[in-house]
Parts: sequence; C-alpha cells; structure tokens
Amino acid sequence: MKKPHLGQHFLINNSVADREINYAGICKDETVLEIGPGKGILTLRLAEKAKKVIAIEIDKSLADSLLKNAPENVEIILGDVLKIDKLPRIDKIVSNIPYQISSPLTFKLLNYNFKMAVLMYQKEFAERIVAIPKTKSYSRISVMLHYHANCEMIETVPKTCFLPQPKVDSSIVRLIPRKSPPFDLMDETFFFSLTKTLFSHRRKKIKTTLHNIYDLKDDSMPYLENRVDELTPEKIGELSNLLYSSLKKIN
Ligand code: SAM
Repeated sequence: MKKPHLGQHFLINNSVADREINYAGICKDETVLEIGPGKGILTLRLAEKAKKVIAIEIDKSLADSLLKNAPENVEIILGDVLKIDKLPRIDKIVSNIPYQISSPLTFKLLNYNFKMAVLMYQKEFAERIVAIPKTKSYSRISVMLHYHANCEMIETVPKTCFLPQPKVDSSIVRLIPRKSPPFDLMDETFFFSLTKTLFSHRRKKIKTTLHNIYDLKDDSMPYLENRVDELTPEKIGELSNLLYSSLKKIN
C-alpha cells in the first residue's frame, strides 16, 4: 500500500545508487546508518561495502520484507527516526531521506558524531543547505549547516529516477562535520536562537528586529542597517557575541 505521507519515493536507478555509495567512500571496518531504507536499493549495496549497516525504517511492511532479503550485517530498527532518543554509534550516514522530515532530521543528525553523511534531499532543500548570502535560498539552515559542517551539493538527480515520481528533482549532498567551529562564539545556544529569530524576520532590518525582540537600542552594534540575508554566518556570529555581552551587561 502506498504511503505518500511517509515520503515513499523509491529510487529505481541503480547507477545513482552506486554513485551515492562511492561518494561516501565506505571502508570494510565502518558502520553505516541508513534512514528510511525502503525496498533496500542502498541497503544491499552498503552491506557489501561496510562492516555493518543499521537501517531505521518506520514502515513495518517494508522493514519486514527487507529483513527477509538482507544479509547478516544489516540490522533493521523499526521506528520513527525522529523519536529515537539516542542513535547508535556509527561512522557514516548514507540515505535517501524522507523529504517531509528533511529539516528536523538534519538538525537531529548534527548532534551526533559521524565522519561523513551522503544524503539525498529535495533539490530546493539542498540548495538552501549550501546557499551563500544575498541569494533567495540563503536561510537559517545554510547558517547552521555552515557552522557545523563542510557541505557540498554533488549531483542533481532527476525526478524520473524515482517511483512513484515526486513533483521535483532531488540532489545529493555530502556533509563532513567540522573538527572545530569556523568562528568563535561566546554562547552557541544564543547564536542558534538569534539566527532563528533574525531569519523569521528576514525582510526587516537587523536594527528593527533587535529593537522589537531584544528591546535593544544600542547604536554601536554593527550591521544594523542590513537584513540578515546579507550577512555571512561569521558576521551573524560577530553580532551574536556583541549582543550576548551587551545583554549580559544589562541584566
Ligand atoms: N531508501 C529508499 C530508496 O532510496 O528507494 C527509500 C527512500 S524513501 C524517499 C524514504 C523512506 O523513509 C521510506 O521507506 C519511508 O517509509 C521511510 N520513512 C519515512 N519517514 C520515516 C521516519 N520518520 N523514520 C524512519 N523512516 C521513515
């Protein structure tokens, strides 16, 4: 039975699957996490390359039938990846992810330790991940991903490579978590929250948002006449540090 609400668009192009596995450069001693294995086009290939594959699938009928065909080094966890508190220890992640959970899933993965992720997203979402300032796609996710990882959009995959066919094309993205942050922050949580707030008011000048949300009337702050989509992640970091110390002084 089709379950469109679970983002069940299955990859039917074997060469795309082969290339995804190659992009991840899997070694024989590595454990790989796959989210949403579906009918297993990636799972079986991953199992040939990796020591172990841990696949999390929400749909019981898909999980059951994959278990029947999968080799011994594949472990299938039946469940909703977003509700699993602690993901297992893994080296790499390779997945054609369910598009409807792209954002929460990406943020969840950023809290885990892994060496590399090769993920298929909807093209528009992938463009947001790698976007630079002064572009329409530049958004909160671009800033957050830049802070946590080196991100590269490797390939666009036409919608004809999936069944049932989705409405839009997809893109393969490679994420390599940074060993150290690209800039110093006084308080990460404050930076994440400021980034979220500024992008929720992306058409407003920074000055207006700082005034309305943080009740700040300090004219010495930089970038007050800019809009957030004109600022690099580094500049948002600089603003975050200055605002954080200014608010600490006030309170
Ligand atoms: N990997 C397969 C492929 O490439 O053909 C299937 C990809 S399909 C885009 C997404 C898969 O994720 C489906 O099998 C779907 O049932 C599963 N899924 C959807 N939501 C999920 C969730 N919250 N947790 C785990 N799996 C989920």
